[in-house]
Amino acid sequence: MTLSGPTAEEWAAAVAAVRSLGADDEIQLICHVNPDGDALGSMLGFGLGLSRLGYTRVRATFPGEFAVPGPYSALPGSALLVPEAEAWTGPRLVAVFDVASESRLGGLAGRLTAAPVSVVLDHHASNTGFGTVRLVDPAAAATSVVAEQLLARLGVELDAEIAECLYVALATDTGSFKFDMTTVAVHELAARLIATGIRPGEISRRIFDSRPFGAMKLTGEVIGRAVLEPGAAGGRGMVWTYATLADLERHAQQPYVLDTLIDPVRAVAEADVSVVVREVAAGEWSVSLRSKGAVDVSGVAISQGGGGHRLAAGFTGYGEAAQVVDTVRRLLDEYLN
Ligand code: AMP
Ligand code: MN
Ligand code: MN
Repeated sequence: MTLSGPTAEEWAAAVAAVRSLGADDEIQLICHVNPDGDALGSMLGFGLGLSRLGYTRVRATFPGEFAVPGPYSALPGSALLVPEAEAWTGPRLVAVFDVASESRLGGLAGRLTAAPVSVVLDHHASNTGFGTVRLVDPAAAATSVVAEQLLARLGVELDAEIAECLYVALATDTGSFKFDMTTVAVHELAARLIATGIRPGEISRRIFDSRPFGAMKLTGEVIGRAVLEPGAAGGRGMVWTYATLADLERHAQQPYVLDTLIDPVRAVAEADVSVVVREVAAGEWSVSLRSKGAVDVSGVAISQGGGGHRLAAGFTGYGEAAQVVDTVRRLLDEYLN
């Protein structure tokens, strides 16, 4: 595992791969399952950039049900989005966004080998190294940082539509410019994006501060059942909660409304580690792990076939919610004792 970004050769290979395309060649962009702001924002921002260069057959997709979370449904470039079933079957180029491992590509993983070139844009330290051209920068705050650098190398000028996509991605993965990854370079990129005329206040309201009433009631219920275990994680403390498909159904809510549930949970001062376990299919759980700094939670996630970053990681767990939490508790103790 390395913390250095793409080499000059890797950048050159990515630029050459795009420049070798004809205007009518099929280009398939893919981001990870259950897409978040960085996945969609970096993919659509890059897709718009390709359109500006004159490429006419750009399609963007993600695996699974074709449901774009409400907050992202009005992102510029959404016209490029197609359901998984309508993705190009033999594209000239595939580009993949914010995907740490091929398992996050679901049924679209085979599309990488169906294309002569697959360019992987990512920033996960846990990236497993798939694809023919790898632009993986673990020091980048978001995949959109990598996407913007590639656009610049391709000579694409930022405009307000591209900038909105990249800004949403950057704001999502930095927790609205609060996390450790919020460097001088991040603020400089944000400044360049804002200089195109986008409105950060309006975007933040739409993306982060707008949820259905039922989502608030559901969140209240799920937070109400949170458990604090001060002795867990080697005495550093763990707080956890879970949400089932039945919870979503009772409040008539879409799964995405729980994507940010980890944020109030990880605010609990008495725990270094926070865990949110969300049911995504019967007996299948999406597990979110966060640490305030004392614990490398990506180790736990990777050992369970997941991935992520040192202080924010995740994996897919199976069985009952309590069993999944038991596994996390046990692994934390193993790592810390
Ligand atoms: P989340 O808790 O879903 O916001 O994810 C936190 C971090 O862990 C993100 O960087 C994700 O990309 C990563 N992550 C979450 N779930 C998985 C998974 N099943 N496999 C690989 N990485 C994951
Ligand atoms: Mn993501
Ligand atoms: Mn990301």
